[in-house]
Amino acid sequence: MSDIVDPKVRSRIMASIRGRDTQPELQVRRALHARGFRFSSSSAQRMPGRPDVVLQRWKVAVFVHGCFWHWHGCSGSRLPRTNRVFWEDKLSRNVERDELAAMTLVTAGWRVVIVWECALRSSRARSSFEAAMDRLAIWIRADPSEVFFEL
Ligand SMILES: [Zn+2]
Repeated sequence: MSDIVDPKVRSRIMASIRGRDTQPELQVRRALHARGFRFSSSSAQRMPGRPDVVLQRWKVAVFVHGCFWHWHGCSGSRLPRTNRVFWEDKLSRNVERDELAAMTLVTAGWRVVIVWECALRSSRARSSFEAAMDRLAIWIRADPSEVFFEL
């Protein structure tokens, strides 16, 4: 991991290896907890894609995705100028893995939530973040025939 990584990408990598309890994940966990949801992180480890939050009671798996690594397509997911082929290949494999995990979960009767990091950032205003989490909470408790929610 020496020459192929430009400084911008390196800082993203450093951010990603801080571990599973990154700030955005904590933010979402705290918000769901405040809305009465309870979850266990141990079961998440054995599930496809290792969801960030698993709501066993509601059969809901929540993923908090970093825009770069999961290639969101927003301004936070632009490819580095150098080694584009390398990054395109790597990131498209991540996207495929995400899709497979989501499909496997839905097939097994789970509902899947994707929260994008940019959505958390752009709702920096406390009130709009809370409003978004309210919408998510309503969706979780609502009609289980809707299997996919993206924020
Ligand atoms: Zn994004």
